[in-house]
Amino acid sequence: MKHVIIGAGVAGITAARTIKELNSNAEVVVIGDELFLPYKRYLLTEFLCDSIQRDDLLFFSIKKLNELGVKLRKGEYVKSIEPSEKVIKLHHNEVVHYDKLLIATGGRPGLGLVLRPFKKHIHFYYSLYDTLILKEKLPEVHKCIVFGDGVSCLDLICVLHNLGKRVTYITRGERATFGLEEDDFEGDLHEFLEEKGIEIITEEQIVSVEESDQGYKVETIQQKTLTTDIVFAWDFYKPNISFIEGSAIEKKLGILVNTRLETSEKDIYSAGDCVEIYHPSIKGYWINFGLPNALEQGRVAGSNMSGQNEEYKTQEAIVFNLMGTSLKARWWR
Ligand SMILES: Cc1cc2nc3c(=O)[nH]c(=O)nc-3n(C[C@H](O)[C@H](O)[C@H](O)COP(=O)(O)OP(=O)(O)OC[C@H]3O[C@@H](n4cnc5c(N)ncnc54)[C@H](O)[C@@H]3O)c2cc1C
Repeated sequence: MKHVIIGAGVAGITAARTIKELNSNAEVVVIGDELFLPYKRYLLTEFLCDSIQRDDLLFFSIKKLNELGVKLRKGEYVKSIEPSEKVIKLHHNEVVHYDKLLIATGGRPGLGLVLRPFKKHIHFYYSLYDTLILKEKLPEVHKCIVFGDGVSCLDLICVLHNLGKRVTYITRGERATFGLEEDDFEGDLHEFLEEKGIEIITEEQIVSVEESDQGYKVETIQQKTLTTDIVFAWDFYKPNISFIEGSAIEKKLGILVNTRLETSEKDIYSAGDCVEIYHPSIKGYWINFGLPNALEQGRVAGSNMSGQNEEYKTQEAIVFNLMGTSLKARWWR
C-alpha cells in the first residue's frame, strides 16, 4: 500500500509518522516543495529574534525519517492530481502513483492585481527562506512598512518592534484589528499598538513600491508618499490548493473534508491549513488555521489512511503572545 503525502509541513509529517507507527510495512512518500528539512514554521519569529538557533527549528531530522522508513522528496512541486487514475504529476512531469493520498499543503500570503507588478520589492513573512533573507537584511533596516491582515501580520509587527525597528502599519480598515474580534483582546488592540509606538495609517492601501535613494518609495491610494527601508505586504492569505484545479475534489476557499478528513474523492484525505471543515458551533465551514489543528489533523488523517476510524475534534483557538499580553486568537477568521 503506497501512501503519498503532498506537503512536508507539520500536518504532512505528523501523518507520515502516524502511518508508519500503525503499520511499519506501509510505503510512505512525502513530497514537499521547500528545500529544507521539515521545520517548525510557528517558531520562525523566535528564530528571527535569535531566541532560538536554526537547529531548534527542525521538526524531523533525516535520521528520524530514515528510522521510521519515510521517504522525503524535498524541492519537488506537485502540479496536478488525477483521482480517476490515482496519480499525481510533479513539476517536471514525473507521474507518481498512490493508493492513499494526503493533501497537506498549508497556506501562504499572496498579492492582488495592484501590487503584483511590484513583487520584487515586497517581502513576505511566511517561510524559512523568507526569514533567512530577512535576517541578513535586518541590521540595515530602521524603518519598516507593513501592509496586510491576519495574526501573522500582527506577529510580524510585534517582532519588528521588539527588534527596535520603526514600524508603520497600513490597513484598509478603520482600525487595526487583524481580523480579530475586539473581545479576543483585553483592551483595545489598535490603541495598544499605538501606545507601543507603532504608527497606524487607516483606510489606506499601497498602490506602488519603487526603489529610491532612501530605500523604497511607497505610494498609497490617497496619494501619500512614504519612504522606508523595507516593505512587507500581502493582500490575502489562502490555502495552497491551485494544483487541485480540474480534479473534481470539492473546495471552497480550502479543501472540503468530513470529520474523518476525507475529501469528496475516494482515498484522498486532506489536513492542516489547506482544509475547510464543518464547525458544529459556527454551523458552517471554516479554516481552523494554526499549529494545534495541523498536528491533530495530521494524526487523524494518518490514522484513517491506515484503516482506523477516527474523527477530528475542532481545536478551538490558539494563544498568541502579544508583546507580553496573551491574546486568544483564531488565525483564519
Ligand atoms: C511566521 C509565522 C508564525 C506562526 N506562529 C504560529 C503560532 O504562534 N501558533 C500557531 O498555532 N500557528 C502559528 N503559525 C501557523 C502555523 O505555522 C501553521 O498553522 C502550520 O504550519 C500549518 O501546518 P501545515 O502542515 O498545515 O502547513 P505548512 O506548515 O504551511 O506546510 C505545508 C507545506 O506544503 C508545501 N506545499 C504547498 N504546496 C505544495 C505543492 N503543490 N507541492 C509540494 N509541496 C507544497 C508548502 O511549501 C509547505 O512546506 C505561524 C505561521 C507563520 C508563517
